[in-house]
Amino acid sequence: MKVTDHIKQAKGKTLFSFELIPPQKGRSIQELYDNIDPLMEFNPPFIDVTTSREEFIYIDRDGLLDKKLTRMRPGTVGICASIKHKYNVDTIPHVLCGGFTKEETEYLLVDCHYLGIDNIMALRGDAMKEEKYFNATEGGHCYANELVGQIVNMNKGQFLHEVIESDNQSDFCVGVAGYPEKHMEAPSMDSDIRWLKQKVDAGADYVVTQMFFDNKKYFDFVEKAKAAGINVPIIPGIKPVAVKRHLQLLPQVFKLDMPDELVRAVEKCKTNKEVREVGVEFAIQQSKELMEYGVPVLHYYSMGKSDNIKRIAAEVF
Ligand code: FAD
Repeated sequence: MKVTDHIKQAKGKTLFSFELIPPQKGRSIQELYDNIDPLMEFNPPFIDVTTSREEFIYIDRDGLLDKKLTRMRPGTVGICASIKHKYNVDTIPHVLCGGFTKEETEYLLVDCHYLGIDNIMALRGDAMKEEKYFNATEGGHCYANELVGQIVNMNKGQFLHEVIESDNQSDFCVGVAGYPEKHMEAPSMDSDIRWLKQKVDAGADYVVTQMFFDNKKYFDFVEKAKAAGINVPIIPGIKPVAVKRHLQLLPQVFKLDMPDELVRAVEKCKTNKEVREVGVEFAIQQSKELMEYGVPVLHYYSMGKSDNIKRIAAEVF
């Protein structure tokens, strides 16, 4: 079922959902199941599975280094299919512009359609580790709005190189990313909102936000988006702080601000166990306020660990 239909069906009740990262190549999918199992009692209507960018590895061949491109956490669509099958829940693969030609994207979307996947999260993708900025893949899309266009065209039977009339067309519901504190590359919040509007005009059905710790930033973002004519659901993304290093890492990677109250509380902690407690408490308060505001879904970035998300969900849902 589409995310937008889950939201309609909930009739104003806030839903619970979360995002998973595929295990590293060679590891077991059981790791994921072990983290999903404790969260199923909160009835997530959908679960997102991320896609990682490809990266270079260097293989030592008799003293000479061979540079190879590989994806360390492959399997997004397969994981979506297996979770959907095992738990009878909708799963949402993250589909990236980066690392994929338009043809490869088309084949991936065809696979998703055959697997009964109803939603796609359409993203440009991060820059590769070695790159300072995102470089479009040859034959791929440069921006997420173009990827949204490809998905919407396919829903109408317009494949890349042919129009196919069929009574079995895809009807994907499309999610896109939004940034309450502006995307790091955007020169201004207004320009970022204009590009977000372009994604929605291209056919995106809902927005999921980057993590944020100050709800006011989300409220302001929603107001700005509405003023710009963006009328699709905007789902907040929540990440509980879990280790002291997050104080530096999260602002550095995601270009976000943390409320001083949270920073001071984490700084006082002597162990990461204490930090986890602070992170859980903060996320509970943050989630409760967002729920009061009437958000359609609270979407948690689990980063492969469910114990703190379970504690938050138990207090909030
Ligand atoms: P876009 O919407 O294409 O925007 C990228 C930048 O270009 C922005 O600064 C925007 O303002 C600007 N812009 C947009 N369109 C245009 C245009 N037509 N012309 C000029 N400028 C334009 N990354 C992963 O690699 N894998 C994941 O699974 C993943 N999941 C994510 C899930 C969520 C909910 C979020 C919020 C992010 C996720 N990301 C993921 C990170 C995301 O890929 C990066 O933030 C990326 O840098 C931007 O992606 P986007 O889809 O927002 O890009």
